[in-house]
Amino acid sequence: MTDRSTLDEQAFAAQLRAFLGGHHPGPTPRGAAKLPFLRAWQATLTDAGWVAPGWPRRWGGMGLPVGLQAVHHREMMLGRAPVPPTNAVGIVGPTILEHGTDAQRERYLRPMLRADELWCQGFSEPDAGSDLAALRTRAVLDGDAYRVTGRKIWTSNAPVAHRMLLLARTGTTASRSRGITCLVLDMHAPGVTVSPLRDMTGSTFFAEVALDDVVVPVADRVGAHDDGWRSARATLGHERSTSLAAAGVRYQRVVRDLVELARARARLGSAATRQELAHLVTGARLLEWAGGRVLGQVLQGQAPGPVASTIRLQHGVFEQRLHALAVELLGPDGMLDAADPRLERDGRWVRGYLRTRASTIGAGTAEIQRTTIAEKVLGLPAEEHL
Ligand SMILES: Cc1cc2nc3c(=O)[nH]c(=O)nc-3n(C[C@H](O)[C@H](O)[C@H](O)COP(=O)(O)OP(=O)(O)OC[C@H]3O[C@@H](n4cnc5c(N)ncnc54)[C@H](O)[C@@H]3O)c2cc1C
Repeated sequence: MTDRSTLDEQAFAAQLRAFLGGHHPGPTPRGAAKLPFLRAWQATLTDAGWVAPGWPRRWGGMGLPVGLQAVHHREMMLGRAPVPPTNAVGIVGPTILEHGTDAQRERYLRPMLRADELWCQGFSEPDAGSDLAALRTRAVLDGDAYRVTGRKIWTSNAPVAHRMLLLARTGTTASRSRGITCLVLDMHAPGVTVSPLRDMTGSTFFAEVALDDVVVPVADRVGAHDDGWRSARATLGHERSTSLAAAGVRYQRVVRDLVELARARARLGSAATRQELAHLVTGARLLEWAGGRVLGQVLQGQAPGPVASTIRLQHGVFEQRLHALAVELLGPDGMLDAADPRLERDGRWVRGYLRTRASTIGAGTAEIQRTTIAEKVLGLPAEEHL
């Protein structure tokens, strides 16, 4: 595969733009056609060597220095490249790269990159979300396998996934984060039952997953027995922080679309609308700069750390404010179903409004992010655990 890691930024961007110009598959379809479309695109990108900018070349990635990784994310967003079908390459993959064995990397990473195999992340449980260390799904070691029983919830992509990166309790309940083991579970193994959950957009992309004495070979353990917490924390690597850095670029494009919406709906004359738009233009810039700050840390060899919480929180709040304005601009049309043909292309704003209600819940709620910022960034006294 071509080594692009030594190109300068301009040459790299030009090559990627040329690739996207020649291969972009067009707008992502909705409904049943969406997943096969995204999987086919992911395979095209992988075969041409344009995926996983931060992964080592040995495991199918591009092995790029961090600066080029940022250019990669930026160009993919500016070129409106379709997004991957799941977040496995950004989250599960780096965990296996960091804590898995070579046999696991060999077996799992390439099919993950091509989206031949889809993954989900089985962390949250009905009584363990923000307080993840309270999880109760039990894995009992029995010879050369674990037997897993419990329940996972809000598992994104579970209805279509082939594998789950799972956290299970192997120690006592009191052991909290010290008694958790990380396993790769086959979603088609006997004892796995997936019950899709419908969210307010009408989508069933996440599910509740019941596990009843599911057998997982010890060879599918990621990291050491009782040491899964370490693997769980490995989900924020270079790949993720550089993609966060590029997200501000995407929002600037979305805000421009929003200005067009205000123009089309004859609302640009309103001082209140203009003020809110100005706030969002500024917010998108701030997101880009905040992303650049994290990127700067990574470039200096530091982990993104708790500062990444500020960006996640900023993103969630920003997305919600942006879509609230969009729906307000739509006026009575904002009450229509997103798929209503009368909305034509504006259904995206209604769908986005509903979708972004989750932006301050998933991947840690806004309250948890604020606590992290208060304690770890600002150095305020720690929350009292009752
Ligand atoms: C769109 C989406 C996709 C998701 N995908 C996945 C997935 O793929 N895999 C997965 O494992 N999970 C997934 N989740 C679950 C997500 O991680 C949890 O919803 C989240 O961690 C919150 O946990 P909870 O829902 O149990 O809420 P709880 O933890 O019960 O929190 C309820 C409320 O109490 C507040 N709260 C709780 N503790 C504190 C505290 N100490 N201080 C202040 N306030 C507090 C919370 O902020 C929240 O408002 C997803 C969630 C969403 C919305």
